[in-house]
Amino acid sequence: MDVRISGNASDESRGKVSSRCGERQDEWRRISIMDRWECTVCGYIYDPEEGDPVGDIDPGTPFEDLPDDWVCPQCGATKDLFEKLA
Ligand SMILES: [Zn+2]
Repeated sequence: MDVRISGNASDESRGKVSSRCGERQDEWRRISIMDRWECTVCGYIYDPEEGDPVGDIDPGTPFEDLPDDWVCPQCGATKDLFEKLA
């Protein structure tokens, strides 16, 4: 029989690792880049995270990066007719 002797408590105060939270994790600018835009004609909302499958726009494409000839997939309105959602 092997009996364990519980005299091995050299584990004192661990977990007191000095966490270096000097580096702040900014939320980057991805949020401002990922603004959503609404079509003022039909109410369609362009969401950069989804892109526009109809217009062959890849997910992650900011509205600003859409080609100038891009139009609303629902009503065909041009980019001029979109308004940025706050
Ligand atoms: Zn529209």
